[in-house]
Amino acid sequence: MIRKGGNGELALIDRIRGRAASSKSSALRLGIGDDCALLRLKADEEFAVTTDLSIAGRHFKMEWHPPRAVGHRTLARGLSDLAAMGARPVAAFLSLGLPRELTVCHGRNPSWVDGFLDGFLALADQYRTPLAGGDLAESPVALADVVLVGAVPLGRAMLRSGARPGDLLCVTGALGGAAAGLELLRKTAGSRRSDRSHSDGDVRLAPHLWPLPRIVQGLRLRQNLGATAAIDLSDGLSTDLNHLCQESGVSAEVDAQSLPIHTGASLEQALHGGEDYELLFTVRPDAVLPRRIAGVRVSQIGRITKKHRSRSRVVLLEGSGRRSLTSEGWQHFS
Ligand SMILES: [Mg+2]
Repeated sequence: MIRKGGNGELALIDRIRGRAASSKSSALRLGIGDDCALLRLKADEEFAVTTDLSIAGRHFKMEWHPPRAVGHRTLARGLSDLAAMGARPVAAFLSLGLPRELTVCHGRNPSWVDGFLDGFLALADQYRTPLAGGDLAESPVALADVVLVGAVPLGRAMLRSGARPGDLLCVTGALGGAAAGLELLRKTAGSRRSDRSHSDGDVRLAPHLWPLPRIVQGLRLRQNLGATAAIDLSDGLSTDLNHLCQESGVSAEVDAQSLPIHTGASLEQALHGGEDYELLFTVRPDAVLPRRIAGVRVSQIGRITKKHRSRSRVVLLEGSGRRSLTSEGWQHFS
């Protein structure tokens, strides 16, 4: 049971505090337990802060997504925003709204929220991002609100607004895998409802259920490659590239042939499927692009061009033809 001041809430907070205590960092001076967390930056750094809300039925489905994957994805979304700025993670804050039944263990089976925390804290550990605070409340639907605090050298964050005509347009990893995984989840959910052990281990679902934020790649893009602009691909290439072009006041051309399409995904999923959490970035034309950064492939997919009739536009070059690539970001479950 979660009620302000109730024993159930305190017990759950104790459980979370106990589990969060293992992840320490030099930037976190004081974590869960006092009125505020205390964070310390290095000299000449500034904070990068992002917040992200996940709601059952909108960003995940109780019947489709294993609780561990919901926890993992909640943190991954926030970390991916830090990656896009070239920031290093400092701490995470998590607020949960939960129906009472999701906090109750059934016999030997852990509760839904314990599964959620397994996924959240495993990724937090992997990315050395301590859980430094949060809040709990009873709610008619499950929701998770995460705040990520990162640090970046003063004035050095990668912004969406830095792309210039002539820059190379590049992307990390492969695209469309998350959309292909979601499509598979949608197709199979009806036939084997809540067979979680099965869906958990299917590699075709991995890009959707277990995305890995490109933190190390973001740091290297900023430090070593001098990336001029960056954004993480949360809403899909067509949508996020249009955001980048708008903010930079430029246009872009994408070569369909150069797109790194994920195994099992279609061109349309690579163009419009969201939640891949790869980094879309630009570099000066004389930059020497590595083939991989920390094991993740890097591809040039096009170039930045001037505004067309004082408007930003994105064009897809396909064979000898060209078509306008408008925002068609993945609409979760609508
Ligand atoms: Mg983002």
